[in-house]
Amino acid sequence: MSEQTLTETAAPAPGHALKYTRNNPFHATVLVNDLLTGAGSEKETRHIELSLDDGMQYTPGDAVGIIPENRRDAVDEVLAALKYTGSERVLDHYKVEIDLEEALRTRLAIGKLTRGSVTQFGKLAPGHAGLKDLVGPDNKARAEEYCWGREFVDLATDFPGVVTQPQQLFNVLSRLTPRMYSIASSQALHADNVQTTVRVVRYESHGRERQGLASGHMGDRAPVGATFPIFLHANAAFRLPEDSTTPVIMIGPGTGIAPFRAFLEERQATGQTGDNWLIFGEQRRALDFLYQDQFEAMHRDGLLARLDTAFSRDQAKKIYVQDRIAENAAELYAWLERGAYFYVCGDASRMAKDVELALLDAIAQGSNGTLEHANEYLAEMKKAKRYQRDVY
Ligand SMILES: Cc1cc2nc3c(=O)[nH]c(=O)nc-3n(C[C@H](O)[C@H](O)[C@H](O)COP(=O)(O)OP(=O)(O)OC[C@H]3O[C@@H](n4cnc5c(N)ncnc54)[C@H](O)[C@@H]3O)c2cc1C
Repeated sequence: MSEQTLTETAAPAPGHALKYTRNNPFHATVLVNDLLTGAGSEKETRHIELSLDDGMQYTPGDAVGIIPENRRDAVDEVLAALKYTGSERVLDHYKVEIDLEEALRTRLAIGKLTRGSVTQFGKLAPGHAGLKDLVGPDNKARAEEYCWGREFVDLATDFPGVVTQPQQLFNVLSRLTPRMYSIASSQALHADNVQTTVRVVRYESHGRERQGLASGHMGDRAPVGATFPIFLHANAAFRLPEDSTTPVIMIGPGTGIAPFRAFLEERQATGQTGDNWLIFGEQRRALDFLYQDQFEAMHRDGLLARLDTAFSRDQAKKIYVQDRIAENAAELYAWLERGAYFYVCGDASRMAKDVELALLDAIAQGSNGTLEHANEYLAEMKKAKRYQRDVY
C-alpha cells in the first residue's frame, strides 16, 4: 500500500473499521484537549480525547498510534537552510511525485538528528573538512555528541551547500514514524472515543526552541475540532487479569498513569471486584497530580483499596514510587501472596529498574528469603503473567 495513504486516503465507510491500520489510518477528531498540569509545573501534560469510527475497538492496555506531521515553521527553517523554495519535485518512498515541502512535512524525520543521517550527509561531500570529523567508526563518540539536542536543520545550517539535489534528502533522513500513546480510557465507559495522557516534549538546545514531533503537535496544533490520523495498536502483553477477583498493584508515575486509568475505569464499569492499589508519582502534588479528582473519588468509593502518591519535589528529600514500595513492603508482599498482579508503566530509563529492585527487596523481606529467592519468585510471576511492564 502506498505511503500516500498515510495522509491522503479517504477514510473507509463506517463498518469497515477493522481496515484502519498505520498505513490506512482513521482521521480522528479532537474532542477534548485539556491541560492536566497546573500553571508553574515543569511538565506540560495533556488529556486528549479522540473520536473513533463505528466498530473501532480497544482493550485497556492497548495504545493509540498517532501519525504526526512536522511543523510548518520547522519545515520552513529546513527549506531556508537548504536554499530551496519547497516547490521542487521529489519522489517519495513509493515513487510518488510530490513537492519537497510536503515531503519534509509528512514523509521525512527532520527532528532529532541521528548518527546515520550525519553519515549519509557526509557521503554527499566526502572531502568536506568539518564533516570528515563526524563520520566513520573512529568518530562515533564525536558524532553522538554532535547529534545530542540537534535536529537536521542544525546540520544543514552548519554545513551549507552539501545537499545539491532535493531527492538526496531521502537517503539522508529516515521516515517519519508514528508515535504510540497508552490508552487512558475504557471503552466500556466511552464507547465512541479513545483517551490519552500526553506529556508535551519542549526544550531549548543549541540556541533553538524545540518540541517533540507528535507531542508538540498535540500541544500546539490539535485544538478541539482538529483532525489527525490515528490507528489502534493492541498490546496483549499488558492486560488485566482474566479473573476479575484478582487483586492488582499498579505503579504509574507521570504519564505511566494512563493505562491504569483505563484499567480502573474498566473494573468500575464492568463491576470487577478484585482489589486495586495504585501508586502514582510526579514532581508536585499541587501542580502534577494527574486525574486527582477521579482517583480520589475512586478511593473514597472503595474501587481503589489503596492510593499512594510520591511527589518528589514537595519536600527536601526526594521521594519516588519505589520509596513507597519500600515503605509498604510487607503489605505489598501480602498482596502478592494473595495472587496480585503487579504492573509498571512509564519511564524505562530509570524508574522501571528502580521499581524492580524495590519489588525484589519487598519479596525478599516478605519471604524472609535471599535476593536469589526473590529473583526466582519474580521469574515465576513473569511466567504466570503476573508481572507486566509497559515502559518506554
Ligand atoms: C508503548 C508506548 C506507550 C507510550 N505511551 C505514552 C503516553 O501514554 N504518554 C506519553 O506522553 N508518551 C508515551 N509514549 C512516548 C511517545 O510515544 C513519544 O515517544 C513521546 O511523546 C515523544 O514523542 P515526540 O514525537 O513528541 O518527540 P520526538 O520528536 O520523538 O522527540 C523526543 C526526543 O527529543 C529529544 N529530547 C527531549 N528532551 C530533550 C532535551 N531536554 N534535550 C535534548 N534533547 C531532548 C530526545 O532525543 C527525545 O528522544 C509511549 C511510547 C510507547 C512506545
